[in-house]
Amino acid sequence: MSNSLDKDLRDRALQVVPGGMWGHMNAKNLPDGYPQFFARSQGTKLWDVDGNEYIDFMCSWGPMILGYHNAEVDEAALTQLRQGDIMNGPGEVMVRLAEVFVDTVPHADWVQFEKNGTDATTTAVTIARAGTGRRKILVAKGAYHGAVPWCSPSLVGVTAEDRAHVLTFDYNNVESLQRTVAEAGKDVAGIIASAFKHDYGVDQELPTPEFARAARAAADAADAALIIDDVRAGFRLNLGGSWEHLGVRPDLSAWSKAIANGYPLAAVTGANRFRAAAESLFSTGSFWCGAQPMAAAEATLNILRRGDAVAHMEKMGAMLREGLASLSKTYDIAVRQTGPVQMPMVLFNDDAAGRKGFAFCSATIKAGIYFHPLHNMFLSAAHTPDDITRALEAAEKGFLAVRALSSKAA
Ligand code: PMP
Repeated sequence: MSNSLDKDLRDRALQVVPGGMWGHMNAKNLPDGYPQFFARSQGTKLWDVDGNEYIDFMCSWGPMILGYHNAEVDEAALTQLRQGDIMNGPGEVMVRLAEVFVDTVPHADWVQFEKNGTDATTTAVTIARAGTGRRKILVAKGAYHGAVPWCSPSLVGVTAEDRAHVLTFDYNNVESLQRTVAEAGKDVAGIIASAFKHDYGVDQELPTPEFARAARAAADAADAALIIDDVRAGFRLNLGGSWEHLGVRPDLSAWSKAIANGYPLAAVTGANRFRAAAESLFSTGSFWCGAQPMAAAEATLNILRRGDAVAHMEKMGAMLREGLASLSKTYDIAVRQTGPVQMPMVLFNDDAAGRKGFAFCSATIKAGIYFHPLHNMFLSAAHTPDDITRALEAAEKGFLAVRALSSKAA
């Protein structure tokens, strides 16, 4: 495994990009052997700039729900690109996409397209405030909703005023949610919840039906908006929205990542109750009308609607989870696998410092499998049983590396 070009690019980037890379994609935060720069992608495969090949279990942090370069999506995107992408206004495709989106998501009476997940969550919160005339937004502790002052996990450059009307509760804790609603008094504009608890570096938790129902009831009692942040999970669990199976529908929801299979697009959807509020906002972006990503999204949604992508991702995810559980038993190294199988999180017991997770992933990346030690991973409709078999072969090397770690420590 060579990494000389990657190293060279990191050194050069350090001269011209603050820190060499922003945010969570700075590979200096990843285990030994992880590349930062990539050259090519196809299906479930990625190639880094040094030519090393990986089977990818991050799916570009979520967007690749049909695999890299899905032919039908790329064809629709290329056709639209040749006709026109950024113009003085949207193409016809915006209306077609909005129609199919609203038809797919039962709680959506309307949809507005944007670029990033942060655009969508921030707009949803702003619509909730505009529609209720109130200020407080209730957010689960530790949840990620984007990288702007009202919600960024870092307080660097954030003022107390930016957070003055953000209150926190514990996800899946009805009592904590109700206490926070009471604290906000008559000023509740909205309650925002992730599709499920998928916070960085901790076990994932699906929402309990009691929690989902309590969030709906609390929003109704306060005449406020229930907002689901479906940016990360959207279309992987349920095409109609991630709480659809719980029978709980939000007033507003935020989407991005998977909706256009990797082309840059986000969406805010809402019920009629918030249509006028959405209309009243001044909301825009230079690239929000781009027709190419919308054509990609239309093709992605059409493929998802006519196929069995969710069931396939569940099948592949279950195969991975069962295989890892069996290896964990064989090597007598305990792991916790949490969350939906198609968005797996794998954490090691007694690993507060993350040494086991890093040793495991360091071994798997060298064996050509791109896992993540601390973030939830993603399956796509393109993953095959052969990809999972190869991932499990690499995982065996990972467990051996963890075992070597403990014998070193002993
Ligand atoms: N919400 C959730 C749940 C996310 O996972 C993310 C991105 N990781 C965001 C919002 C922000 O999306 P973006 O990075 O596209 O702004």
